[in-house]
Amino acid sequence: MKIEDRKVASIHYTLKDDAGTVLDSSDGGDPLAYIHGMGNLIPGLESQLLGRSAGERLSVTVPPAEAYGEFDPDQVVEVSRSQFEGVAELAVGMQFTASGPDGHQMVTVTKVENDMVTIDGNHPLAGKTLHFEVTVMEVREATPDELSHGHVHGPGGHHH
Ligand code: ZN
Repeated sequence: MKIEDRKVASIHYTLKDDAGTVLDSSDGGDPLAYIHGMGNLIPGLESQLLGRSAGERLSVTVPPAEAYGEFDPDQVVEVSRSQFEGVAELAVGMQFTASGPDGHQMVTVTKVENDMVTIDGNHPLAGKTLHFEVTVMEVREATPDELSHGHVHGPGGHHH
């Protein structure tokens, strides 16, 4: 069976940046299971998986525009320390969910200086070219439940 829209594919993957540093990997765990054509994966990776079948290995390089977007300097803002009432120790790398005009957004603290805190609303992988090594483990039909939820159930998918 080949990967195509509405099929479930399970993949093992290793993700590296331009420097060859491993950013993420499914090694040692369940493969990642997703429904093709439902936006479960970044577009630049999903498009390369179309037509593949179990046992195929591929290397995929995905530019930022087809991954997590370009880095947007406007998403980096300074706010007052008082905005973090109740947080005892503010440190670089901490992540918070902020409410903004576009709904909830994950922000990362990138600098703490006196009473000012710099937060970055970009995705941590924004602006990065991503290098994936992928092995297709399994391709199967999606169940009606999975199609109506828009995600895979069971190992490598959602548990609920
Ligand atoms: Zn579900």
